[in-house]
Amino acid sequence: MAAKIIDGKVIAAELRARVADEVARVKREHNLVPGLAVVLVGSDPASEVYVRSKHTQTQAAGMASFEHKLPADVSQADLLALVAKLNRDTTVHGILVQLPLPKGLNTEAVVNAIDPAKDVDGLHPNNAGRLAGGFEALSPCTPLGCIILTKSVHASLEGMNAIVIGRSNLVGRPLVQLLLNENATVTIAHSRSRDLQGLVKRADLVYAAVGKSEMVRGDWLKPGATVIDVGINRIPKDDGKTRLVGDVAYQEALAVAGAITPVPGGVGQMTVACLLVNTLRAACAIAGLPKPAV
Ligand code: NDP
Repeated sequence: MAAKIIDGKVIAAELRARVADEVARVKREHNLVPGLAVVLVGSDPASEVYVRSKHTQTQAAGMASFEHKLPADVSQADLLALVAKLNRDTTVHGILVQLPLPKGLNTEAVVNAIDPAKDVDGLHPNNAGRLAGGFEALSPCTPLGCIILTKSVHASLEGMNAIVIGRSNLVGRPLVQLLLNENATVTIAHSRSRDLQGLVKRADLVYAAVGKSEMVRGDWLKPGATVIDVGINRIPKDDGKTRLVGDVAYQEALAVAGAITPVPGGVGQMTVACLLVNTLRAACAIAGLPKPAV
């Protein structure tokens, strides 16, 4: 039987609607308007598309959206000065500096300068450390989205064998921590792992976050496994254009997996929706309100 397709588009739309309801409630009950500031340095076309989509979705959820565009040759000092200003701005509850930054800028110093309470990308060492310690933290958006997608097919992940392929700070590592919080048993694999295929074969939950087109093959999977494909890879088509594929050979996996996310239309859809969740959570925490119901 073909795998159930986990529809990120539908799940993300439901999540955005829940965020919008909660935003309306905190506005009504507490006169609080959550605000997200996005800083874009330079004019990378992919980053511009992401930033535009963040802006539109933030406004659609009823939040305030502030965009700051800086030239690619901005100095480190000027960028840090903007971050410091946003840290002080009481209308801003979430700060996101779009990565990657142009060469010459020190990404680590910029991320470290963001107030951890406003770090809606969850990349500040305070948040990464808190997450690793099992404490309440702002967590990176893509891994949060992966957990929500998994829970759309499994009410509980307790005791399940999960494998996360990829150990980046943005995806793999925080995803491992979130899975541990869900009481899954987690293996983390990377480019030096031995017998990746054998490791994948044991997993009930497979998360591929590698950046290599269709690396995980259908016959690697345990029958019935749930597959969450984080990869976004652009490959050339015969007509000279490109198409997007994930890190999993989708057609092969469909025949073996129990459930699978498509690319596009899976994890990618969830990332911005989770950014809205984080902004709402940050706003409530800064205002001393209870955690919102999303
Ligand atoms: P990184 O390049 O930072 O990390 C890739 C990871 O994959 C590394 O840990 C690397 O191991 C591991 N890896 C590389 N080759 C292999 C291999 N042959 N076998 C096993 N592991 C391997 O990528 P990101 O984590 O930033 O992103 C991963 C993918 O997810 C990309 O396709 C990216 O575009 C996509 N992405 C999608 C998002 C979304 O919203 N859907 C958001 C963010 C990313 P090592 O550490 O040993 O080098």
